[in-house]
Amino acid sequence: MNDSAAGRGGPATGEGTRAVRAGLPEPVKYEPTLPGPVFAAHYHLPGDPTGPYAYGRDDNPTWTHLERAIGDLEAPGQDGVETLVFASGMAAISSVVFSQLHSGETVVLPSDGYQALPLLRTQLESYGIEVRTAPTGGDTQLEVLDGAKLLWIETPSNPGLDVCDIRRLVEAAHARGALVAVDNTLATPLGQRPLELGADFSVASGTKQLTGHGDVLLGYVVGRDAEDMAAVRRWRKIVGAIPGPMEAWLAHRSVATLPLRVDRQSGTALAVAEALRDWPEELGVRYPGLMSDPSYKIASQQMHRYGCVVSFTLPTRARADRFLGALRLVDDATSFGGVRSTAERRGRWGGDAVPEGFIRLSVGAEDPEDLVADVLRALDESAD
Ligand SMILES: *Cc1c(COP(=O)(O)O)cnc(C)c1O
Repeated sequence: MNDSAAGRGGPATGEGTRAVRAGLPEPVKYEPTLPGPVFAAHYHLPGDPTGPYAYGRDDNPTWTHLERAIGDLEAPGQDGVETLVFASGMAAISSVVFSQLHSGETVVLPSDGYQALPLLRTQLESYGIEVRTAPTGGDTQLEVLDGAKLLWIETPSNPGLDVCDIRRLVEAAHARGALVAVDNTLATPLGQRPLELGADFSVASGTKQLTGHGDVLLGYVVGRDAEDMAAVRRWRKIVGAIPGPMEAWLAHRSVATLPLRVDRQSGTALAVAEALRDWPEELGVRYPGLMSDPSYKIASQQMHRYGCVVSFTLPTRARADRFLGALRLVDDATSFGGVRSTAERRGRWGGDAVPEGFIRLSVGAEDPEDLVADVLRALDESAD
C-alpha cells in the first residue's frame, strides 16, 4: 500500500519534500504529526478476528506508517507496491530468499556481496536449493542465470563497491522466468530505485544509512507482486522477525532527514575519494561517484547519488591498523551510513575476499574539510 499523504495521488514533489511527509497519516486535531510508537502485543478485538490489527506479530500501526514512508521513497507513484519492515536487514533478506525458493530450485547470488551471504548459502544448500555465485562487476551473474528461480543482486556491492547494470540483469532474468531482488542497502532509495529499473524486490538493511544514527537495527522488503509479497509476509509471521515499535518509530523519524544526510554524506564521500586518489601513494581507492572508477559508467546511469562508503587499500595490515588508530574524527567500528564517520580494516572479519590492508570508510555528516584533513593527517602519520 502506498497511499500516504506524500504518496500516490499527492502532488508531484521533490524528494526532500516527499521525505519529510512520507508515511504520515492525515492530520488529526490534537494528535502529533507522527503518532508515537504503539506498544501492543494484542489489540482490542471483539467478535470475528479480522484485521488489520489483531496480534502484534502480524501488524502494528507504527510499522504501517513506516512501511508507507519507505514505499513512498522506493517506489513513488507506483501502484500496487507493498512494503514490509523487519527486525534487521538479514531478516528481510532471509524472508525473500526462503519464501520464494523451494527444494530443487536455483538461486544466483553475488560472490562479493554482504558477508552473511555465505551463511545463507550453506543454509539454502542444506534445504536442497542450488546456489550459484558470480562477481557483481561486469554483470557476470548473467552467465550463470539459466534455470534460476531467483537472481540476487547487490549493487554497489559491500565492501568492494562494484556496480552491475540492474536493468540489463533484470531483462535477462525475466526472459528466463527468474525473479530479481536487489539489495539496496548501500545506495538507499535516494541513491537508486530498483523497482523503477524493473526489479521485483528492493530489499535493504535499514540499520545503515536509512536510519543513519547507528542506534537501530531494521530491515525492509518492497515488492511489486501481491502473491510474492503475501509469501514474504507469511514468512515474517512464521519466523517472527519483526521490528520493535520503538525501532520502527525511530526509523520513521529518521526518514525525514534522509535526503539531507545522503546529500551531505555522498558529497563529502566524493571529496574524501578525490583526496585519496590524489595522495602520492597508490591506494586503489574505490568510489562509484569518482569519474575514474570502474563502477562510474553504470553507476552514473542508474544511481542518483553514489553513497557514503569509500574503500581503499593500504600496503600492509600494520599500516592499516596505525592509520585507523591515528584517526580522530572517525571511529574504528563496523557498519556504515551513520552521521558519525566510521572505518575499519575489513579483513579482520575474515568473511570478505579483500586484502589485509583494505579499509572501508563510511563518511558521516562532519564538515567535509575537517574529515578530509583528518584522513590525510592519519595517512601521513601512519606512513612508514
Ligand atoms: C548490513 C547489511 C546487511 C545486513 O543488515 P542487518 O541489518 O545487519 O541485518 C545486508 N546487506 C548489506 C549490503 C549490508 O550492508
